[in-house]
Parts: sequence; C-alpha cells; structure tokens
Amino acid sequence: VGIDSSVIVEELDQEKVRELNSLAEIVYFNPYAPEDQIVSLLRDAIAIVDRKAKISSKIIRELRNLKLIARTGAGVDETRVDLKAAKERDIIITYNPGGNSVAVAELTIMLAIALYRKVIPLALSVKAGKWSELKPKDTMGHELEGKAWGILGFGNIGKRVAQLVTSLNCKVLGYDPYVSSEIMEKHGVKSLSLEELLSKSDIISIHVPLTESTRHLINSERLKTMKKTAILINVSRGGIIDDKALYESLRNGEIAGAALDTPEEEPVKVDNPLLSLDNVIITPHIGGSTFEASIKNANSAVEEVIRFLKG
Ligand code: NAD
Repeated sequence: VGIDSSVIVEELDQEKVRELNSLAEIVYFNPYAPEDQIVSLLRDAIAIVDRKAKISSKIIRELRNLKLIARTGAGVDETRVDLKAAKERDIIITYNPGGNSVAVAELTIMLAIALYRKVIPLALSVKAGKWSELKPKDTMGHELEGKAWGILGFGNIGKRVAQLVTSLNCKVLGYDPYVSSEIMEKHGVKSLSLEELLSKSDIISIHVPLTESTRHLINSERLKTMKKTAILINVSRGGIIDDKALYESLRNGEIAGAALDTPEEEPVKVDNPLLSLDNVIITPHIGGSTFEASIKNANSAVEEVIRFLKG
C-alpha cells in the first residue's frame, strides 16, 4: 500500500497503521515526485492512499496490481485522478464526503468578512506604514447580520455554511436542483431558482462540484443579474466561474468584490488581471487545508484500505 507522504503521517491513528501493516507492506511516497519515480516505488502496490498526488493514466496503467485509490479529499474529479483510466481497469476510488466541510465553511465565512471589512488591503496599508494616510471612508465596511446569503450547492459544505451564517443572523437562500425545498426549509434555508438567488443575494458562495453542467455556471450574463453591492465567493473548483467575465464585471462595477480559493488558473500567474484588483482575494486552494480535516480524512482513507484488504 502506498501512502502519500503529504498525509500527516504522525497523526494517523497508530492502531490503524499497525493493523494495515499486518495486512500489507506500507510504502510512503512523495506526491510531487516525477511520475516515473512514483511508478517504480509503487510498482507492486494494491492500494494508494492519496492526498496531493496526481494519479495519472500512466500511474494507473503501470501499477498492474492496483485495485483501490483511497482519496483523503472530499471529492473525486479529473484534476486529481484520471477517472477514465481508473474505470478502464475497474479500480475502486473512495473518498471522504464531508471530511473537509468544517474547514471549507469556516474559510468561506472568513473570506466574506475579509471582503466586507477590506481586511487585506487595510492590513497591508498598516504594514506599509500608511495607517495615518487612511481616510475614514477607506476603513468603513459592512456587517453580515441581516444580509441575504445565497448558497449555490446545498451539499455537505453548503449545509455547514448555512448553519454558520444562520447563527450570524443572515437570511439564507439556496439553489440546488438535486435538493428539495423541504430539506432546505428544515435547515432554515429558502429554496430559489438560480436566477432568483443571483438577483436577491448580497453574498453568494459556491459549493457545487465541477461538472459539464456547472462549468461557467457563473458567466458574464449571470454576473450582470447580481446586485452591484454583491460579493461572490468560490471555494469549490476553478472553472465554475468564468474568471475573465468576473474580471470585466468587477472592473465595470457590476458586483462589489470576489474571493476565489479556487481560481480558474491554478496556480494563478502573477500577471492575472484579477490580482490587480483591491476588491479581490485569491487564496491558494486552502479550503480543506486544516490539520483537523487532514487527520480526519487520512484516518478514514486508511480505514477504507483496511476494509478493502479484509474483503
Ligand atoms: P457535496 O457533494 O456534498 O455537495 C455538492 C452539492 O452540489 C450537492 O448537493 C449537489 O446536488 C449540488 N449540485 C450539483 N450540481 C449542481 C448545480 N448544477 N447547481 C447547483 N447545485 C448543484 O460536496 P461538498 O462536500 O459540499 O463539496 C462541494 C465542492 O467543494 C466539491 O465538489 C469540491 O470540488 C469542493 N471542495 C473544495 C475544497 C477546497 O479546498 N476549496 C475542499 C473540499 C471540497
């Protein structure tokens, strides 16, 4: 069994590691190593516990004994595992739905407050010795209380965001074609169509997977239907927002700000025009990156491998 060494190995449940060791040999591999090295190190691997590695078609085809890829993350998509190659070889892929929800939801709230209170540009001004140059109007922000918070995608993360912003006294709106309005109501969320949600929300946070139907879900036309005062937060996957259209929309004052943990271009290049805007925050895909979530997810992935090996 190959375990991605970016898993916080010391924090793995040692009893589970001993159990796994009694069933199979454990090999730790560097997820950033060249493909060839990963292939030669894991040549006999039956299973891979994967956190940061890109499990390419080459890796999948050349590890002839591979039967299981246990992802520590919350989802499976093409950017991490070559799903087509895995399907061709009938490789089982497991993942941990919900394991990152708290981490991503907390980051979402932080990004909204950071945009509303201009935390990043103001803190940078202080560091640059410009506190005394700030005018009162530069330092004024908004409160979340009483605002309409629109949640796109009412899954594990969307639900957790709903719970947090309800406690902050926001009015919570939701759009998810696969979740009934009854379920949303049980969580205190009003179910709306996408068009209604976009036009009524002060804050919109995105928690949908990247699929053919969500690619560029937020495009130029839809950005125009949002409030001029609205802020938009994408903590799901790059590509759900058309980032070029977002830049134009921000420059034209069609919306007030945006925060992207998952820009369309990852890693974002330094000349990406979005970086030139004061009302944009881009974080380096850190939504799920907490010690707590990593430990929870890694332990669950090891458990999946044990369950598989025990049949
Ligand atoms: P989830 O599967 O529990 O929820 C996704 C929800 O989106 C589901 O309820 C689904 O019905 C809904 N949905 C699907 N298509 C939709 C559409 N066209 N319009 C509206 N809703 C739609 O997933 P989750 O655990 O809540 O995670 C959501 C996404 O967050 C994941 O797909 C993943 O890409 C992303 N994520 C990002 C980070 C990060 O580091 N920023 C970490 C974890 C997860």
